[in-house]
Amino acid sequence: MPGLYLHIPFCKQACHYCNFHFSTNLQRKGEMVEALLVELEIQRHYLQGAPLTSIYFGGGTPSLLSASELERLFEKIYALHPVDSEAEITLEANPDDLSPDKLKALRDSPVNRLSIGIQSFSEADLRYMNRAHNAAEALSCIENALAAGFANLTADLIYGAPTTDDAQWAFNVQTMISLGIPHLSAYSLTVEDRTALAHMVQKGKTPPPDEDAAARQYEFLIDATESAGYAHYEISNFAREGWQARHNSSYWLGEPYLGIGPSAHSFDGVSRQWNIAHNAKYLQMLTTAKDGEALWYEIETLTPVQRYHDRLLTGLRTIWGVDPADFPSPFREHFLEKIRSFLQQGLVETYNGRYRLTRSGKFLADRITAWRLIFGAK
Ligand code: SF4
Repeated sequence: MPGLYLHIPFCKQACHYCNFHFSTNLQRKGEMVEALLVELEIQRHYLQGAPLTSIYFGGGTPSLLSASELERLFEKIYALHPVDSEAEITLEANPDDLSPDKLKALRDSPVNRLSIGIQSFSEADLRYMNRAHNAAEALSCIENALAAGFANLTADLIYGAPTTDDAQWAFNVQTMISLGIPHLSAYSLTVEDRTALAHMVQKGKTPPPDEDAAARQYEFLIDATESAGYAHYEISNFAREGWQARHNSSYWLGEPYLGIGPSAHSFDGVSRQWNIAHNAKYLQMLTTAKDGEALWYEIETLTPVQRYHDRLLTGLRTIWGVDPADFPSPFREHFLEKIRSFLQQGLVETYNGRYRLTRSGKFLADRITAWRLIFGAK
């Protein structure tokens, strides 16, 4: 069930922890929309005419798109692709962009799901992360989005920041639950290379995230969401019955997707490709591109070993796990041999013939290097 991803590579300001691709110079946003339209046209056959079951505007900050820019992108998408009548159409939004007018414009567009970058309801956390919104906006934007008719809402939270004590974290999680949003994603604060946070930690201006606090807060999150009826269906994702993210689930289930825009990735089941993560070069390459020329992306045909590792490492992180029968020989035998020690340590369990992480396994899953070493993945 293929999905379409569009990367909108602009943000009002740089969050200290973020290593996604974006620019805070918005001057070329209009040109970028034109280039996305060109790339959509050139890549129109990538998914071989299969109906789109999900469309995802990510970034960056897609809520910076104007109503007319969004309309032009949708016109092109619908002209080039059949779109399933039940397709999940998500747009990532930042709280400070979600004015009543913006929410109305989004409701009048095909967007039927918002993913809001809340991160915290604490002023101290938001300042520490250098978010563009404040605590009052974090709360009011969810209330306003629900009131505007966006029942299908998800929001992101970050735990483990030095400014986030356990009481604040409990407040953040309970506030999300009490607001009634059906889906929640939560990530541990990590210090990524070449970010302001890495620089601050290196200079001793801020302590690194406290791993013990992060583990406690993750545990609280799992308990609180479970008691409130959310399924923990992927390491960082929680949903009420029937509200799991279709687009992200398709990544974890190894389904094809087309990515448009700087730094976007695509996968057709056989090869993966990734666009250049540089706005000016992407614009230049797309405006001079001719149909059939591939100048703005690199491509790699996956070996059977890579396909096995990708399927294994993403599948194990989900509630659906992996089925050894899906792996051809000799990978099936390799899997069954290597997984034994994880079963013995209680990190993995079997469920209807499938293998998935236990609660303790989820705590260790982000130490993915260990898994990669044992399974030999690159
Ligand atoms: S708004 Fe999102 S993409 Fe932009 S800098 Fe912040 S975390 Fe990164």
